[in-house]
Amino acid sequence: MKKLFALLTLVCICVTMLVVPISAADSVSVTYNFHQQNVGWCGEAKNGASCGRTGQSLRGEAFTVKVSGMSGGIQYRAHCQNYGWRSWVSNGSVAGTTGKSLRLEALQIKLTGEIANHFDVLYRVHVSTIGWMDWVKNGETAGTTGRSLQIESLEIKLVAKSTGRAGYVNTSSASLNLRKSASTSSSVIAKMPKGSQVTVYGSAVNGFYKVSYNGIVGYASAQYIAFSSTPTPSNNATLEFDWPVNDVTCTWSSYKSSTMSWGEYEGNFSDGRNYHLGLDLRSSKYDKSLSPDKQTASVREVKAAADGTVVYVGGTTSGNGYRVVIEHKVGDKTVRTLYAHLSTASEQFWKDNGIKAGTTVKRGQQIGYLGNTGLSSGAHLHFAIYEGNTTNPKGRCNYEVTANKTTYDGMTFYNPKYVIENDMLP
Ligand SMILES: [Zn+2]
Repeated sequence: MKKLFALLTLVCICVTMLVVPISAADSVSVTYNFHQQNVGWCGEAKNGASCGRTGQSLRGEAFTVKVSGMSGGIQYRAHCQNYGWRSWVSNGSVAGTTGKSLRLEALQIKLTGEIANHFDVLYRVHVSTIGWMDWVKNGETAGTTGRSLQIESLEIKLVAKSTGRAGYVNTSSASLNLRKSASTSSSVIAKMPKGSQVTVYGSAVNGFYKVSYNGIVGYASAQYIAFSSTPTPSNNATLEFDWPVNDVTCTWSSYKSSTMSWGEYEGNFSDGRNYHLGLDLRSSKYDKSLSPDKQTASVREVKAAADGTVVYVGGTTSGNGYRVVIEHKVGDKTVRTLYAHLSTASEQFWKDNGIKAGTTVKRGQQIGYLGNTGLSSGAHLHFAIYEGNTTNPKGRCNYEVTANKTTYDGMTFYNPKYVIENDMLP
């Protein structure tokens, strides 16, 4: 499967991220206030703006911080003249002192709950005789201690953590525990069935990964989380697909859109709103100055995505054009793959190679030539994965397709990219 993952990097534009971006990111914010000698509360600032007056030798005394836009909270504490570190407070409470003429010397800030899974809190302080100190984050100390220096201004901001990587549960038993913290004695907050998709953050600590499963964030034993090769679907059957063209890309400049990905709206056909029930693919080495039949053998080659039995070869000049349909067994489930818009030259290829309904084919075996037949405005392979009895599935539908699995016309269609990347049906 290494090969497959290498190829995937070429499918750069059309893919949808497995890790759902945090849509709330724009509205997540941090607001803070700073209490200063002679000034009192300076007024709220947010998201990295300065709060406090510099250059006037005015002693900072206290501060407050709060976050909004996502569940979770923020905790912080102040290091004050005569006191040292004071207790942690949270969510808008005052840290430090007021009315005591005691300088604020250092502070620490950290996020808690869900927001801490998605954001880092960064902060820096302006200190007398030093000026702005470096940004620190997530509970680190900003400012000085033991030097009798006062904080004069404060800046705080939230930065989205880099997104995690896709992994899956690779256990021999039925499920893997998702725990509240990184310990086998920690409480179990979810059971993740074998083969489940998870998002993994960072590297393992104490043998545990921090993972997100179905929106629940917790910790799972690192030895049962894997990142490549073949996960086992929960029905104990494995279904693995390869890309059906070499050097795969779905960049496709002949359409209105530069890419034709799963579910994408095709606005340039006359028969209503059309959403795509497959992927449009071809080799990145396709030479646009030549017709499909004049391309190199590697570019022309269309291959079976997995072992299976051919259920249809043939075609017409409309719709899917010349095509091959292969049926694949996945445990007790049957799925089909469609390879559409093939060249008419495929007809001779099928004759020469004995490919017809009932023929068993192996993964990677050539099954035809890339073409431009049917409802197609340029050479490409329309590749679909579906459950259903037809050998001529719709390539488009008239309602929006957003999930990786959608039902249309009595059939279930899968996002091929999702299936191939995860080696399994969603
Ligand atoms: Zn298509």
